Amino acid sequence: MANYIGKFRVKGPEKVTPADFPTAFTGDFTNKSEAAESLEANVKRMSDLQDMMYAHDKWAVLLIFQAMDAAGKDGAIKHVMSGLNPQGTQVFSFKQPSAEELDHDYMWRYNKSLPERGRIGIFNRSYYEELLVVKVHNLIKYQKLPDQVVNKNIWKSRYRQIKDYERYLFENGVLVLKFFLNVSKDEQKRRFLQRLEDPAKNWKFSEADVRERRYWDDYQKAYGEAICNTATEIAPWYVIPADKKWYARFLISQIIVDNLEKLGVHYPKLDDEQLSKLAIYAEMLNNEK
Ligand code: ATP
Ligand code: MG
Repeated sequence: MANYIGKFRVKGPEKVTPADFPTAFTGDFTNKSEAAESLEANVKRMSDLQDMMYAHDKWAVLLIFQAMDAAGKDGAIKHVMSGLNPQGTQVFSFKQPSAEELDHDYMWRYNKSLPERGRIGIFNRSYYEELLVVKVHNLIKYQKLPDQVVNKNIWKSRYRQIKDYERYLFENGVLVLKFFLNVSKDEQKRRFLQRLEDPAKNWKFSEADVRERRYWDDYQKAYGEAICNTATEIAPWYVIPADKKWYARFLISQIIVDNLEKLGVHYPKLDDEQLSKLAIYAEMLNNEK
């Protein structure tokens, strides 16, 4: 099977926009059932690697999910999680900041939610909103920043801060992988209409979604800028084709497995003394009366 990961990975300061990437790509598969077996195999491998990562207890992995509404973040997270041990996983969703959160620097709430060593943490939206919704709707004015730091360089400063932050994390044993679920505007409309028509999906629809859709072009531009200014070798972005949910899920699982394999996590190795004690413990158990 061909490996398409490189096609969707952004590692450097190259100039890209979401429009440079396909939204309806499905690789070597033509339908969901063809991809099912490969997705299942990846989920199983992910689970084995997570088990090792937990035992190794050195690396943590932070998976960041960003997307326009209805791109399938929740479903993708649910699928990725389905094979993982809940004890080794943490998911946090970030919405509009509270008054308490606005009383701190913007990284505060994200920093508090980082995964512990040996764990996989998931951010459903993240500090990237600071370059997206905050930029599109000019929310800086609510962030209580001193006048001296609010100037035309603020976005450039934030790109640098985020890149530095992710380097800091990597150098302290937290691998950050960033996924942008790239859905087309037509597919978003189709999914919104489906939410309106299907009583079981009505609850998912919100008026805010239609309002935000009007800012589609602004968001695409902001995403492009955020991606090319924060993609690095150690914390790459992946622009995931998301018009076919089943393919997005497969590709995400493939990328996670690929990266976990590269971390080189392993079960702790026992030294000779510890190994020799195992035989003694076994003997004690076998000799129990
Ligand atoms: P879903 O719609 O699938 O439930 P969601 O992630 O869109 O998931 P919502 O409750 O609809 O959740 O939206 C959360 C909102 O919070 C988004 O519109 C997002 O842009 C906004 N938000 C997230 N982080 C920030 C931030 N730092 N500043 C301002 N708004 C933010
Ligand atoms: Mg929403």
